[in-house]
Parts: sequence; structure tokens; C-alpha cells
Amino acid sequence: MAVPRRNSPRPEDRRPLGGGVGWARAESGPDGDWLVRNISGAQAQKTYRCPGCDHEIRPGVPHVVAWPAEETGSVEERRHWHQGCWDSRGRRRPTTRRW
Ligand SMILES: [Zn+2]
Repeated sequence: MAVPRRNSPRPEDRRPLGGGVGWARAESGPDGDWLVRNISGAQAQKTYRCPGCDHEIRPGVPHVVAWPAEETGSVEERRHWHQGCWDSRGRRRPTTRRW
């Protein structure tokens, strides 16, 4: 039985996004609607860069991953945030909004 070939090398990226799948929650903020998933320390196995503070999120650090709700088909839109940075993003007023 043929398995569709995907471009993504990482199994986690093959999961369906949004659509009420149940592993992500929807949040509305001043910057739009987002789908958000909590990442536990055990699940955090790579270093990410938080767009809120521009500092690294180290492996083992619980954090959140969020992506625009209207971009449910694009895993490239996902961003990893410190929990606190995500919670305070509406107050932080970033000067650049390239993403
Ligand atoms: Zn941060």
C-alpha cells in the first residue's frame, strides 16, 4: 500500500493542524486568532528562538507553540514561545511584525 510522500522530514510535522483535532486550542488575541499547543519539558528536545523576547528556548523547558489559525496548512508558520512571552505578547508591543 503506497504511502504519500511528504516533504517534511520530521514525524511531528505530519500531524494534522487545527480543524478541531483536539491537541491544540484556539486563542484569540489582539494580533489575531491562533492555535496554541503546550509543550512539556519532556517534549522540548530542541532549541528554539522565542519571537517574543528573541532569546533561546532550551531543550527541557516547557513552552508553547502557536501558529496563525488561518494558516492551518502550513507548519512553517509555527512559532515556539516562552509561556510568559506568549501570555504577555499583547502588552509587549513588538516593534517588528515580520511574521
Ligand atoms: Zn521569550
